Amino acid sequence: MQNKIQQLIEESERSLAPQFHSLEQIAYHNQKKVLQAFQNNRIALRHFAPTSGYGYGDEGRDTLGALFADIFGAEAGIVSPNILSGTHALTVGLFGLLCTGDTLFSIAGDPYDTLHEVIAGKGIGSLADYGIAFKKCDLRHGEFDYDGIRAGLSDPSVKVVFIQRSRGYEWRDALSQKQIAAACAFVRECGFEGCIFVDNCYGEFVEETEPTQNGADIAVGSLIKNPGGGIAPTGGYIVGKRAFVERIACRLTAPSIGAEVGSYMYGYQSFYQGVFLAPHVVCQALKGGLLIGACLEKLGFETSPAVTRPPYDITRAIRFRTREELIAFIQAVQEASPVDSFVQLEPWDMPGYESEVIMAAGCFVQGASIELSADAPVREPYIAYFQGGLTYEHCRYALEKILEKIVRE
Ligand SMILES: *Cc1c(COP(=O)(O)O)cnc(C)c1O
Repeated sequence: MQNKIQQLIEESERSLAPQFHSLEQIAYHNQKKVLQAFQNNRIALRHFAPTSGYGYGDEGRDTLGALFADIFGAEAGIVSPNILSGTHALTVGLFGLLCTGDTLFSIAGDPYDTLHEVIAGKGIGSLADYGIAFKKCDLRHGEFDYDGIRAGLSDPSVKVVFIQRSRGYEWRDALSQKQIAAACAFVRECGFEGCIFVDNCYGEFVEETEPTQNGADIAVGSLIKNPGGGIAPTGGYIVGKRAFVERIACRLTAPSIGAEVGSYMYGYQSFYQGVFLAPHVVCQALKGGLLIGACLEKLGFETSPAVTRPPYDITRAIRFRTREELIAFIQAVQEASPVDSFVQLEPWDMPGYESEVIMAAGCFVQGASIELSADAPVREPYIAYFQGGLTYEHCRYALEKILEKIVRE
């Protein structure tokens, strides 16, 4: 069996050579972009220094925001360890921009699972509790539904148009920058003057441009995903048009202080180093994901995106035939991890998710999904989502474990 598995992996690697080459070219482009932003912002050792208390004049914090803005082609940015996760960053962003009577309009279907309660929860301080309405327009066969978008925008209460770049827990490809650029242009053609807001989680550095370079006003994401490069210990970012970023800063802190406060006594080196490494790490994860996808496709499992298509985020979905295969896959990822490899995983009712989930995250940074990780709602159809991988070699090693286990099942 060992020989067969090695043969399958080596064959797949050979057939993926052209895709690997184009991913490496994207990584090089993005590495250059990041380095130029470091140079433009004259990053120096003093920017890594810790601060305490209010953090007035905290150069490390302010420059980190400017650096991210530069990388993302935006006017301003907030990058903070006080943004606790992607969900928190998105929540702060939405509450910063929307007032009672306004409507949030998602044009890429349902937002990510952890936003459902943020939008519509009852009696927990959700957008709905503050009188902010929500409506959505589903994608059609993975494309924006332009008629539906035009109809939705005829409602003058729409103040934020929301686009989720990544797939979330959906069997669809992530949106490409080309699709996002076309949708942003269309939304403007319809006369919309509010904020186009992109949930950028899992998408950073996958293509050569970011949504804020393609017509979006705000992009938001998590530092324990792509732009943290596996090094940032926590945090999130918000980049975009200055006026919007300032409003969001007032919501993150308080209206009187905005982005002027916030200290961090562990220093900022890991955030700077993380975003420096991120283009390379994202490329490793993409190559690893393609390899795992290619081998499982050869064994007859359906994967999304199909291996022949370019990836537009770092996640990949695999449809298994049974609950047992699904759980075996997730367990194999855990067993191949550098941390907590001995843990026997079980499905559980995780806060923020609507059905039982099982998650493999044997990570250095707790739950970091830029590290090789996998999760699945345990319900039909049995789809596992996996993402990340700090090194291609780790993904390859995990693949051996996965194949051993699945073939046995
Ligand atoms: C991960 C993710 C979120 C939420 O981020 P957390 O850090 O898990 O709170 C939101 N949207 C998308 C598309 C994500 O992938």
